[in-house]
Amino acid sequence: MSQSLSTDILIVGGGIAGLWLNARLRQLGYSTVLVESASLGGGQSLKSQGIIHGGAKYALHGALTGASEAIADMPRRWREAVAGNGELDLSGVRLLSEAHYLWSPGTLAGNLTSFFASKAVRGRVDQVKGDQLPPALQHPKFKGKVYRLAELVLDVSSLITRLAELAGDSLLAAREIAPLREGGDVIGLQIDGREIRAQRIVLSAGAGNAELLASLGLEQPRQQLRPLHMVLVKGPSLKPLYAHCLGGGPKPRITVTSHPAADGQWVWYLGGDIAEADGVARDEAAQIRAAQKELGDLLPWVDLSSARWATLRVDRAEPAQSGLVRPDNAFLADQGRLLVGWPTKLALSPDFADRVIAALQRDGIQPLAGEPLPALPRPPLARPVWEELLP
Ligand SMILES: Cc1cc2nc3c(=O)[nH]c(=O)nc-3n(C[C@H](O)[C@H](O)[C@H](O)COP(=O)(O)OP(=O)(O)OC[C@H]3O[C@@H](n4cnc5c(N)ncnc54)[C@H](O)[C@@H]3O)c2cc1C
Repeated sequence: MSQSLSTDILIVGGGIAGLWLNARLRQLGYSTVLVESASLGGGQSLKSQGIIHGGAKYALHGALTGASEAIADMPRRWREAVAGNGELDLSGVRLLSEAHYLWSPGTLAGNLTSFFASKAVRGRVDQVKGDQLPPALQHPKFKGKVYRLAELVLDVSSLITRLAELAGDSLLAAREIAPLREGGDVIGLQIDGREIRAQRIVLSAGAGNAELLASLGLEQPRQQLRPLHMVLVKGPSLKPLYAHCLGGGPKPRITVTSHPAADGQWVWYLGGDIAEADGVARDEAAQIRAAQKELGDLLPWVDLSSARWATLRVDRAEPAQSGLVRPDNAFLADQGRLLVGWPTKLALSPDFADRVIAALQRDGIQPLAGEPLPALPRPPLARPVWEELLP
């Protein structure tokens, strides 16, 4: 016989969006169950670069865009949470860098001057020199200009671990999920022999949302996948670097973040333009050669002779947009008891949770005193990609 449970809010998907939302809802007194079919953080979240953008990167077009407006408050909210005095207590989450840097390798100063004069970045960007430069750029041969952005970089693995702690007993490992209907309406989900009824069901399953919506017979909201081909390099002589290297265009030529591996070495994780269209078209060997050439041109003093290389293909899952334009905000749509969305960036998970909470308040959904949950099988935590690919 199937077990019957009820909860206020049933969340599907244990990436950053579902886990952050779950922690916020529990703090507000809602009972929750968060269902994960693979591993916590193992979708896009642990494959992300962990940058808590404040929007400066998107203001590179020269204009103050919607993206810069919506995202501008995120570094403050995350900083307070990590310091233990924000909307969630994320003390213990490892801050990899207090700042992310913009680095122009040489002659792009003119381009940068107008950018830094723009209202979008005034007061949020300072030029740094000498021993204030990121360690990897402190070399006599380094000629470029470097600006410090008020954007943090987080160790996403410790973030997911902390949010899983804040989830208490609400996590449920699942294999098969099917809708539970009453009179045609979805009132909950059937999960591996359990019937779970809920006041609201939130789909925050990243790239898995499309299939979940299809299983519910829904065509909207539509999802788009934006493929990336990231590069990882690990070596004994790498020093930490967190920077967007500017090219001629609006997108960073390369975005470098640095991650401590379990063996004490640093892994550089390379995204930006190199991981987009041309990079996606390259096979693994060609993509590694392209990255070797980029780093050789930009940082010729970095000894990569004994470095090990790997690439990672991963899709960013977002709401469908014409022309694959990057969405500006967390996205949430709702239909009956169902809410579905994508944060669109790790940094925007607080915005995603705000939108869900606003929808609950709008609909008068209050915490109901229910039965305590029985012990549920817990999903595992995912491992960082560099431990998988470059052990
Ligand atoms: C290479 C890369 C770099 C990035 N860098 C940054 C960055 O520096 N800063 C930033 O802000 N953003 C960044 N992003 C974007 C960011 O990673 C994502 O926006 C964010 O992680 C999405 O979180 P999520 O919880 O919606 O999805 P995910 O992390 O993908 O989590 C979805 C979860 O749902 C689970 N799931 C799927 N289907 C089901 C199902 N049927 N039932 C139950 N569970 C299911 C999955 O197993 C997964 O655990 C990056 C993305 C990529 C790909």
